[in-house]
Amino acid sequence: MKLPDKVMKEGKAKVIYEKEDGNLLMKFKDDLTALDGLKHDQMPSKGKYNSVMTAHLLKLVADAGIPTHLVSLLEPGLMEVKKVEIIPVEAVLRNVATGSMVRRLPLEAGSRLPSPVIEFYLKDDALHDPWINDDHVRILGLATAEELKRIRELTLKVNDVLLDYFASKGLVLADFKLEFGRLGGDLVLADEITPDTMRIFDAKEFEKGRLVEYDKQIFRDGGSPEDIKAAYDEAFRRIVGEEPPF
Ligand code: ADP
Ligand code: UDP
Repeated sequence: MKLPDKVMKEGKAKVIYEKEDGNLLMKFKDDLTALDGLKHDQMPSKGKYNSVMTAHLLKLVADAGIPTHLVSLLEPGLMEVKKVEIIPVEAVLRNVATGSMVRRLPLEAGSRLPSPVIEFYLKDDALHDPWINDDHVRILGLATAEELKRIRELTLKVNDVLLDYFASKGLVLADFKLEFGRLGGDLVLADEITPDTMRIFDAKEFEKGRLVEYDKQIFRDGGSPEDIKAAYDEAFRRIVGEEPPF
C-alpha cells in the first residue's frame, strides 16, 4: 500500500502517518532498540511480526470489552488505528518479579508476585522514562485522578485476558507495558503489545525454575541475531498459532 508523503511522527519502533479521514497508519519498523536507543540493531521482518502480534492481541482484548485503537491490520507491517491523544504515562503491570523491579527491590528474579503490581513511568526519553507515582501524574497534569483509576482498571482487565490466553499457549506473562489515549470521552488502549513491550517465559521451564524467554530481553542481554530471531519466531507461533510466514 502507498503511504502518505507526510510523516506525522517517527519513534524508535514505528513511523506514524495521518490518513485523510483522520485515522493513523502505523508502519512497524524492523529496528531493535534498547538502553534509550543507545543499543541499536535490525531484525529482518520484525515489523511484520510485531504488527501481526499486536493486531491479534488487540482483537483479543477488544473482544473482552476493552476499547482499543485498532481499526485493522492492512497488511503485515501496517496497521490502521484511530488517532488518540496519548497520555504520556507508561503503565507497566508485573505478575513476576524481573527486570528493573529486581534491581530496585529485594525480590528474587523470576518469583511470582502474590498479586499484580502496576507501576507508572513518564514517557520522556531525555529523562530516561522515570518511575513516577499517582501524585507525580497529578502535579505534572498528565492525567486526572479518574483517568488514572481507569488506566489501572483497564490494565488489570488486559492482564486478566492476556494471562489466561498466554497460559493456554504454554507461556507465563511476566510483565508488559501499555499506553492509553483519550478518545471521545473515554480512554482506549493504544500503541502495541509485542515481545518488545512484554516479557514472556516458557511455562514448562518456568515451573522447573528456569527462565527461558521469547522477547526483547534476549536483545537487551546481547543475544545473537539468530537467538533474537528464534525468540520472535517462537513468540509468534505461540501467540498467533501459525508458523511465521515472513
Ligand atoms: P517510541 O519511540 O516512543 O517507542 P514508537 O516508535 O513506538 O515510539 O512510535 C509510536 C508513537 O505513537 C508513540 O509515541 C505512541 O505513544 C504513539 N501512538 C501509539 N498509538 C497511537 C494512537 N492511536 N494515536 C496517536 N499516537 C499513538
Ligand atoms: N517496557 C517497555 N518500554 C519501556 C520500558 C519497559 O515496553 O520503555 C516493558 C518491558 O519490555 C517489560 C516491562 O515493560 O516487559 C517492564 O520493564 P522494566 O521496568 O523491567 O524495564 P527494563 O528491565 O526494560 O529496564
